Amino acid sequence: MKKIIYLDHAATTPVLPEVFEAMKPYFMESYGNPSPIYSLAGEAKGAVEEAREKLAGLIGARPGEIYFTAGGSESDNWALKAVAEAYAAKGKHIITTAIEHHAVLHTCQYLEKQGCEITYLKVDEDGLIDLGELEAAIRPDTVLISVMAANNEIGTIEPIEEIGRIAKAHGVLFHTDAVQAFGHIPLDVERMHIDLLSASGHKLNGPKGVGLLYVRKGVKLGSFIHGGAQERGRRAGTENVPGIVGFGKAAQIAGERMEERMAEQTALRDYLIGRVLAEIPYTRLNGSRTRRLPGNANFSFQFIEGESLLILLDQQGICASSGSACTSGSLDPSHVLMAIGLPHEIAHGSLRLTFSEETAREDIDFTVEQVKQSVERLRGMSPLYEDFVKQNGRQPEGV
Ligand SMILES: *Cc1c(COP(=O)(O)O)cnc(C)c1O
Repeated sequence: MKKIIYLDHAATTPVLPEVFEAMKPYFMESYGNPSPIYSLAGEAKGAVEEAREKLAGLIGARPGEIYFTAGGSESDNWALKAVAEAYAAKGKHIITTAIEHHAVLHTCQYLEKQGCEITYLKVDEDGLIDLGELEAAIRPDTVLISVMAANNEIGTIEPIEEIGRIAKAHGVLFHTDAVQAFGHIPLDVERMHIDLLSASGHKLNGPKGVGLLYVRKGVKLGSFIHGGAQERGRRAGTENVPGIVGFGKAAQIAGERMEERMAEQTALRDYLIGRVLAEIPYTRLNGSRTRRLPGNANFSFQFIEGESLLILLDQQGICASSGSACTSGSLDPSHVLMAIGLPHEIAHGSLRLTFSEETAREDIDFTVEQVKQSVERLRGMSPLYEDFVKQNGRQPEGV
């Protein structure tokens, strides 16, 4: 069988063996519902609370401020809709950015239909918001600022601590979609003045279908799922015990290895970026060179279609993405690449490579070779490229 090189960790990650081992007993042995009072229930309840402590510890929160959900999308929906509802008396204005995940953007569009007013902050060519613009957008009726900690497509890390400081100074709640950042880079809800934070298990080598919403003590927030008294009455439904245990274990491992992992991945990322930019002409890096997630690289190759590139790479066993998984299948270019100012034709020729500590340098070397050959092949078939070469005389070096 051909070796698979998985370079789509921003879409999802494999469950680590230690995480799977930790989850196993909660399917068939300790299968109790955590709510009743017999001891089988107690085992499940204890495991859920232990996971809650580990997850809280990773972001400097208290365990009582962590609410389990069914994933990042639910956490984002809950945070935005519940704040809009609970603070409606203060106002109906929310500030977010043009590059949020659809779980935030589509929720904002829904809230607009419900009478909310949303300001979508622009970003610069690196994908960073302007703090002055943020501050100027705040009004007396602003109830929430929602800015992602790190972007899932271009990896840009937003100035979360500064945003938190501004939100706090103006008495506005601050939510961050930290799904890509949680367990990957340091986050501290106290230092960064974060009031609400979304995270998801499957983006840090935990299981799919489990996430959390951190809600600072004192923030008013209605329940999103109505029913039983689970999660202090704020999120009904029998807990996903194995999922929660796996999420907790994944967070513990991510926390222990964070520093080392960040250093290794940053080195590999910079090596990859350096090689691609040096060896493939008419290529640009999307997102900031330095303020970016350790495991993210995103390029645009002029004169080609990202989708065709993905197919050629797939034939070599390389799993990559041309934008976010949620938008593939659609012909519209990514809203993130549009927001950083790329023209349509350049945005269409984009490739996102996201890796993990399992990714070896040889995998990256093989990938760079394959990308190089595939881009050359596609350009060889491109009438646009042919015209370009005609107009500019000879072919550029290396092509
Ligand atoms: C993946 C992702 C989500 C959605 O999380 P799910 O757990 O898949 O629902 C939300 N925001 C960002 C930034 C993501 O990368």
